[in-house]
Amino acid sequence: MRATDDRYRGEQAKFDLAMRMIGHEARTGTIRFLTGLNDDRIRKLYTSYFKYGQEPVRRQRGRSPTRIAPLVRTPLRALESGVFANLLLANGLICVEQPPGPPLKHNVDVGHRFCECFETFEVVVPRRSLSFEWCWNLLVSMRRGDELGIARCGVCSICYVFDVLSLPRSTCPACVLFEQSDDTTPIAAAG
Ligand SMILES: [Zn+2]
Repeated sequence: MRATDDRYRGEQAKFDLAMRMIGHEARTGTIRFLTGLNDDRIRKLYTSYFKYGQEPVRRQRGRSPTRIAPLVRTPLRALESGVFANLLLANGLICVEQPPGPPLKHNVDVGHRFCECFETFEVVVPRRSLSFEWCWNLLVSMRRGDELGIARCGVCSICYVFDVLSLPRSTCPACVLFEQSDDTTPIAAAG
């Protein structure tokens, strides 16, 4: 019976992850990639549990975003991306010592960890502009490492995301925002 139990638990974990991801309006392709469930089962889950619920969830069609420019287009966006990148680092989804980090495909445990990062991100940045799919794009792009890098500012110590192909390299978005601000009172002295 043990093999049957393990198989059942494995199926249940995939199912739970798919439900969690549909709730975050993940695209079918991303759910398939992480859970290994086929499109038909994902569609049925969506129709059975979400389509006619009290808070209808939009089903995202088409491909996931892959461009990186919107992730760093403005200092505010680069800061927001940096917050999510820090959550990914803290949860071992990207790894500096052993890049890129754990395998992603059909990795249900990693999928749940990614959802935890996103759910924390929603709390930390209540007015976030990055959707689940843009956050997924950030993870995949950072692991690829050819377009997006992460740096720590020598002045304010904040970690931020930058476009590795852009020259000169963009400066720290937190320092840029602080310079743009009219209020030049040091934060430490304000309280
Ligand atoms: Zn800075």
